[in-house]
Amino acid sequence: MVITIAAHKGGVGKSTTAVHLASCLSRIAPTLLIDADMNRSVMRQWATKGKLPFKVVDERQAAMYTRQYEHTVIDTEAGADEDDLKAVVGGCHLLVLPCTPDPLSIGALMSTIGTLKRIEASRYRVLLTIIPPKPNRDGEDARELLEKHGLPLFRRGIRRTVAFQRAVLEGTTVDQVDRTGLASLDYDRVAEEMVTLVDRYVRRSVTA
Ligand code: ADP
Repeated sequence: MVITIAAHKGGVGKSTTAVHLASCLSRIAPTLLIDADMNRSVMRQWATKGKLPFKVVDERQAAMYTRQYEHTVIDTEAGADEDDLKAVVGGCHLLVLPCTPDPLSIGALMSTIGTLKRIEASRYRVLLTIIPPKPNRDGEDARELLEKHGLPLFRRGIRRTVAFQRAVLEGTTVDQVDRTGLASLDYDRVAEEMVTLVDRYVRRSVTA
């Protein structure tokens, strides 16, 4: 399974999503994370501490490793142009688009979705991230708005939790800093939905 995480705007939890979905997949089978984002946040902030339960390489090293791993998660930037997105979509089973519930992030997402629609891509899902806790309604409002526009969203979003920031500082995943398991629950649910979706895509392409 090849999953690409892309965002047109920084700070939306893209690297955090790549790390945590890779962590979920690594519980099922050996997983490789390719850090193809030029900021190299995963490699610099996480992988150097050597605590992640999966291998991290950059795109220049990837060819040496992919065959050894069942699942690959790619952390990348999404270019605005069609050719760039076509290449990204053509290189994965599912494109995950993290988006925070605020106008700037939603605006950037809409531009990416516009391009995805033009190139007739269908294997993508929007993931709402860093959702402020209730009674704040930003998460629900963003979901309603995106659904009204017919965008495909993961059923579950990722709530804002301070444990994610602690996890970056310690170079590990959130389940290691929050033993209650509550902070990691959202990514666990998203990973379950993602595996089901990809299974469906793969089965459809085999029978087509
Ligand atoms: P990007 O890769 O899109 O630039 P990051 O994954 O680096 O975004 O996240 C940006 C910041 O938000 C980081 O400080 C990260 O720890 C924090 N963050 C990400 N997800 C969450 C979350 N669910 N709750 C709280 N903070 C988060």
